[in-house]
Amino acid sequence: MSLKSDLSKAALALKRGRVAALTGAGISTESGIPDFRSRGGLWERFAPEEYATIEAFYRDPAKVWRMLEAMEKLLSSANPNDAHKALATLEERKLLDGIITQNVDMLHQAAGSRRVIEFHGSSSAYTCLWCDARYSREEAEGRGNPPLCRCGRHLKPDVVFFGEGIPPEAMSMADQLAKSCKAMLVVGTSAEVYPANQMPHIASRSGATIIEINLEPTHLTSSITDIFLQGSAGEVMGALVEALS
Ligand SMILES: [Zn+2]
Repeated sequence: MSLKSDLSKAALALKRGRVAALTGAGISTESGIPDFRSRGGLWERFAPEEYATIEAFYRDPAKVWRMLEAMEKLLSSANPNDAHKALATLEERKLLDGIITQNVDMLHQAAGSRRVIEFHGSSSAYTCLWCDARYSREEAEGRGNPPLCRCGRHLKPDVVFFGEGIPPEAMSMADQLAKSCKAMLVVGTSAEVYPANQMPHIASRSGATIIEINLEPTHLTSSITDIFLQGSAGEVMGALVEALS
């Protein structure tokens, strides 16, 4: 099957509307953010078991903040790419119901997407694990570097650490979206991280067409993917939006 005929098949599925998207690290690599798990990624410099578990944060938040500062530096200079913009365009045309993202880079929002379910949280808000105080990003920025709570402890960004649960609201919204969509775009994710990896299966079981866009085939490609569009997220998503008009 040629990419072109697959593109028109995918475009046809999108035209019917009720589309959901599941995105992962691969959608942001073209924005200059290497997959944390890839070579040269964040986890190569900061072993996640030492820097990214909730236990590590309780044990030594100052140490974990060295990783968070590196993450922040990586994310703050990034801009949305063609794939983020294409998803925003689909939503604007009322074809896309929402995005479930595993990323914490807020690039979907920067591209103009409105319904973004941040499955792994984000650093748009901060919490003190010791006294439960909450701070907006702006408030936290005024509380030192790294930011400290009024009680004197380190604040934690609302990104989901290893060992932490998915925010319940994100979980139920994602589940609902996956169950109700007629097509799901799986973009830039090998869908290996539980429980985000369940979303394409939930959608597929509910009868949705699974359209996968990845550089390389994944375990989804040979199981539940209906249309596989191989290539970079920016390139393929751009072509897909073009094929719609
Ligand atoms: Zn506190």
